Amino acid sequence: MIIEKGFVVAIDYTLKDEKGNVWETSEGDEPWIYLHGFGGIIPGLEPELTGKQQGDTFSMTLQPEQAYGVYDKDLANKVPRSAFADIDNLEQGLRLSAQTDDGETHSVTVTEITDDTVTVDANHPMAGQKVVVDVIVKEVRPATPEELEHGHAHVDGQCH
Ligand SMILES: [Zn+2]
Repeated sequence: MIIEKGFVVAIDYTLKDEKGNVWETSEGDEPWIYLHGFGGIIPGLEPELTGKQQGDTFSMTLQPEQAYGVYDKDLANKVPRSAFADIDNLEQGLRLSAQTDDGETHSVTVTEITDDTVTVDANHPMAGQKVVVDVIVKEVRPATPEELEHGHAHVDGQCH
């Protein structure tokens, strides 16, 4: 079966930075399952997968804007250090959950700590970076009518 819009695709993938450091991989874990053509995957990867089939492998380098976006310095904010008084393991690189004014939760990274302030950065950790991605196509199947209606893949028949 050939990957095209409306097919559910399972891939194994490894994301690396340009130096080859592995940032995320599905190796040793479940493959990533998504509905092709509905934006459920890194934007730059989707066109490359079109026309591939089970067993195909490829590797490509994505520009930041095709991957996790360009770096937005406005998303890095200095917060008074006192706001972190109850966090014992405060250190550079720590990932925290933050709540915005409209109640949405998102992840931030601690990027700088001074005596008075802590800089938290809401950019994706891979924002502004080229991403090297290795892909193995594990499975391709037609989506069910329900999946097409929802606009995402269901795993083991479960919506989540
Ligand atoms: Zn669903």
